[in-house]
Amino acid sequence: MPEEARILLLALGSNLGDRDSHLAKALELLSTLPGLELWRESRRRLTRPVGGPEGQGDYLNTVCSARSSLPPGELLRQTQAIERGLGRRREAEVRWGPRVIDIDILVYGELILNGAELTLPHPRLRERRFVLEPLAEIVPELPLPPDGVTATTLLERLPPS
Ligand code: AMP
Repeated sequence: MPEEARILLLALGSNLGDRDSHLAKALELLSTLPGLELWRESRRRLTRPVGGPEGQGDYLNTVCSARSSLPPGELLRQTQAIERGLGRRREAEVRWGPRVIDIDILVYGELILNGAELTLPHPRLRERRFVLEPLAEIVPELPLPPDGVTATTLLERLPPS
């Protein structure tokens, strides 16, 4: 792994079909990407869908940490290719509707991006308990950009749900 490798935090979720198997396959495919080395996976948690249409199934969510030297745009292309490989068809979806697999890039090293395709850190990271809880489990002490606050502290600051 080259020197410019960054710490990568990803969130994965599935609420269609065999959710466990979709998460497992996505993680397996991530682990085969050249320039990406998976580290830890959190416990998987069932969560109620946030937003989107009524009546959709619960999500199975997880987060994982990795080391990666992929350029950020290439990383997004690869995660979206894995989503497609598992059967996700964005064009047929409604916003926040059910999905076979969703992969969000939460944090990529110290990068701050506000591009048309990629926002880093992920804009909803700090308001989502189902992301902060597993992050506090696998990287409790890691300072997160832009201000170095840890997932443990962000979780303590979250209003009760
Ligand atoms: P979603 O439907 O939640 O998977 O949204 C995916 C869209 O969000 C894609 O079009 C991405 O280009 C965009 N996006 C922006 N920032 C991120 C990020 N940090 N991780 C994943 N997708 C992102």
